[in-house]
Order: sequence, then structure tokens, then C-alpha cells
Amino acid sequence: MKLVVFDGDHVGVVEEDQVFDISQVVPRGPAWPPTFMNSLIHRWSELATQVDAARRAGDGIPLDAVRLEAPVPMPGHIVGAPANYRRHIEEMGARGSGRDMRELGFFLMAPSSVTGPGTRVVLPRDSVRDFHHECELAVVIGQRTKDVAVEDALSHVFGYSCLMDLTMRMTETLREERTMRKSFDTFTPMGPWILTADEVPDPQRLHLELFVNDERRQCASTGDMIVPVAEQIALVSSVMTLRPGDVIATGTPDGVGPIRPGDSVRIAISGIGGFAVDVVQADTCAPVRF
Ligand code: MN
Repeated sequence: MKLVVFDGDHVGVVEEDQVFDISQVVPRGPAWPPTFMNSLIHRWSELATQVDAARRAGDGIPLDAVRLEAPVPMPGHIVGAPANYRRHIEEMGARGSGRDMRELGFFLMAPSSVTGPGTRVVLPRDSVRDFHHECELAVVIGQRTKDVAVEDALSHVFGYSCLMDLTMRMTETLREERTMRKSFDTFTPMGPWILTADEVPDPQRLHLELFVNDERRQCASTGDMIVPVAEQIALVSSVMTLRPGDVIATGTPDGVGPIRPGDSVRIAISGIGGFAVDVVQADTCAPVRF
């Protein structure tokens, strides 16, 4: 099943080119914080039958007539996998540490950096820095997960999505901490939907692609990950409790490169789907310029 958030806080099931609104069965708290998808995921086993009934009862809306939002508008955590594909480590050369995820562990990015498919990525105004695209498989956690064994870890996954981990690169003299460089607003486009895990028999057999203005920049298999998805979940849950709606960005393959205002960036993952975002620069300069 493909689950979308659309037109603000509506939740839908996508079938072919139609969205079926199932918002009436989604648990609702106050409008803020917008954690309704986290609640739906948390109560999925209890609500799945109602979701299915609501989907059957409704009329489809053409997918191109709605505005898709990030499928988890407010994840509690976004966990990032650094240096998890060998050829990306090689291409980073001296800009990277040369070490891989087994040595580096993981990092966090700000949940406020999430944005939806079809939105705009906003780069700082008049920046002379390099901003790079990273093409990643996103894992959406389905339940409270602490100290899960590798062999049980995939049963804690609710579903999968496409994620761009956009990054301000370090320079020789400016080596800011990773969390900051990846946490600008709009730097984590995610979507177009969550494909539930029952439709992804093996997350290590997916094909990732990323295009900038129709030029293919990244192309790889998730089978090339150094630390596979199940082991990433075991690692993270050894440190912190993962919760429904948390997202793991599982690392980027090689081919990362610059994005500039005016670019269109498109991600696609086999069996899941894809989306594009437009790159613009901010209207005004921030108080601290990057
Ligand atoms: Mn990344």
C-alpha cells in the first residue's frame, strides 16, 4: 500500500494515478504538532482494516490534482547513515574521513528540514559554498524499537520512501559539524509516499537513481550498502529508542554533485516511485551567511 499526505493534513491511499482519502480514520490530536502520521503508524495493526474500508468507500482524486506533502510531516528523529557506500567514500577523498559507517556510527538531521515532493529546495542567498544532492532509501519505523536484534529488525519497519539528503559541503578551512550542514529548511525532501514494508520483500534489492535536469548523476543498488538496513536499525536501537514515524536515511551511493538555483532534481527508487523538486535561492540573506 502507498500512503500519502496531501493538501495539508489529508491522508490518502494511492492506487495507480488516483488518491483515495482515508483521513476520517486517522487518529487526530491538536493541529500542532502535526504528528497524525506517527499516530496512524503507531496504531496501524488496529486501524488497517478501517483504512482499507475507507479506501473502498471513497472516490479517487487524480494524483496530479493534489499537492503531496512529506509522507511523515514531523518525524521524531531523522537518523542519517554516513559513508555507507564504498564508492561514495572513495569519491569524497580528502573531504571525507575515509572511514565507513561501521566506524562512524550514525548522525541526526533536524526533522524541520523535511519537505514534500514537488516543493522547492531553498539554498542560502548569494552563497559561494557547494550544496550537494545525496540520493537515499528512507526507512520509516513502525513501532517502538530498542535493542532489536539484526534478524528481527526488518519486522520493525513500517515502510520505505525516497529521500534526498541535501548537504552543504565542507571546505578545506570550514569543516562545520554534519548535523548543521544537512539541517537547513527544505534540505530533506521525502516522498512521494510510504510504500508499506509488506510490498518490499528485500530492501537490499532496490535500484536508486537521481537526476539533475535529466542528467543521471547517481545510479546504484541498495545491495551495495556497507551496513544493510537491518543492521542499521539494530545499531541505532542499541543507542536510542526508535519510535513510529522515525526515519532512517540509509546513506548515499557515489555520484553526489552540486545543485544550483534553477536546477530540477529528481529521485527514483525501483518499486517505490519518485519525485522531483526545484532548487531556488532564498529571497533574503540570513543573518549569518553560508
Ligand atoms: Mn546522506
